[in-house]
Amino acid sequence: MARITIVGAGITGMAIASLLSRNHEVTIVAKNLPGDELTLEWASPWAGAVFLGLDGSSEREQKMQLDSFAVLWRLAVTNPESSLRRIVMEDFHDDKTIDQIWYRGKMPEFRVMRQDELPKGVKLGMSYKTVVLTPKVFLPWLRKRLEASGVTFKRVNLDTLAEVKSQGHDIVVNASGWGPKFMGDIRDQDVQLVRGQTVHVRSNYDKIYMRHGKDYTYAISRLDGTCILGGIKQYDQTDPKLDLDLQQDVSTLTRLEPVRTKEKRLTAL
Ligand SMILES: Cc1cc2nc3c(=O)[nH]c(=O)nc-3n(C[C@H](O)[C@H](O)[C@H](O)COP(=O)(O)OP(=O)(O)OC[C@H]3O[C@@H](n4cnc5c(N)ncnc54)[C@H](O)[C@@H]3O)c2cc1C
Repeated sequence: MARITIVGAGITGMAIASLLSRNHEVTIVAKNLPGDELTLEWASPWAGAVFLGLDGSSEREQKMQLDSFAVLWRLAVTNPESSLRRIVMEDFHDDKTIDQIWYRGKMPEFRVMRQDELPKGVKLGMSYKTVVLTPKVFLPWLRKRLEASGVTFKRVNLDTLAEVKSQGHDIVVNASGWGPKFMGDIRDQDVQLVRGQTVHVRSNYDKIYMRHGKDYTYAISRLDGTCILGGIKQYDQTDPKLDLDLQQDVSTLTRLEPVRTKEKRLTAL
C-alpha cells in the first residue's frame, strides 16, 4: 500500500482518488474544496455538467471516457442523491459527418436524426442518452463518499509543487486544473486559460441541446427545474466581471427551435 498525495479536489482529483483509494492511502490537498462558497478559482463547480465524447480523442482516451461513462450511467440509478440523472442528448454539428464521430453507436439509444428534426444550418444531428449532474450537489456527495472510504482532505495553498513534499508520501499526483500555470517551479505555459460565461435559468426543458460549429451553443437541463445556457469560450481571457452583452447573446439561445416551446417558463435566476 503506497501513500499517495493528490493535489486538487476538483472532479479530476476526486475521480483519481476514488480509484486509487481502493488499494492505497490517499490524501487530497487543495486550496478549494467541495462544499466551499462558489469562486472563480476552479472549474468543477461551474460545469454543465454533462457527459459528451471529446473530439479528437485517441483510442485510449475513448476507452477511458466510455469506462467513466459506464460508472456514471450506473450511479444515476443506484445513487440518485448524487444528482446524477440519465437524460436525452440532441447533439448537433454544423460541419461534421457521422463517420467523424468516434462515439457513434456507442451511447445508449443512439440514432442519427432525420433532416426534418434538424435546426436550420445543421448538417448532422444525433440523439442518444447520456448523464447530467449538478456540481453543487455532486462534488460534496463524492467528497463524503471518499471520506467514508478513508480518503483525507486538507486545505493547502501551494506556491510551488515542491511544497507538497512536507505532506510525506510515496507518490504525488498533480490534478490541480490550471494550477501548473502559476506554481513557481512549473510555470507550464502550455496550459491555456479559457473564459466561459453561462446563464442559469428556471426551465422545464428536459433534454440536452448541444450545437457545435460557428454557433457553439448549449442548453443543459439539470432535470431539477433549471437549465444552464451557454456556449461562450474566450481564449486567454480571465475577466471575472459579468459581460451583459454576452449574457444577452446566450439568452437568445432560448429562441432556438428545440427550447422555444418552453421559453415562456424561463426566468433569470
Ligand atoms: C461553464 C463550464 C461548463 C462546463 N461544462 C462541462 C460539461 O458539461 N461536461 C464536462 O465534462 N466538462 C465541463 N466543463 C469542464 C470541466 O468543468 C473541467 O474540465 C473540470 O471541472 C476540471 O476539473 P479539474 O478537477 O481538473 O480542475 P478544477 O475543478 O479547476 O480543480 C482544480 C483543483 O486544484 C486546486 N488547486 C489549483 N491550484 C492549486 C494550488 N496552487 N494549491 C493548492 N490547490 C490548488 C483547486 O483548489 C481545485 O481543488 C465545463 C467548464 C465550464 C467552465
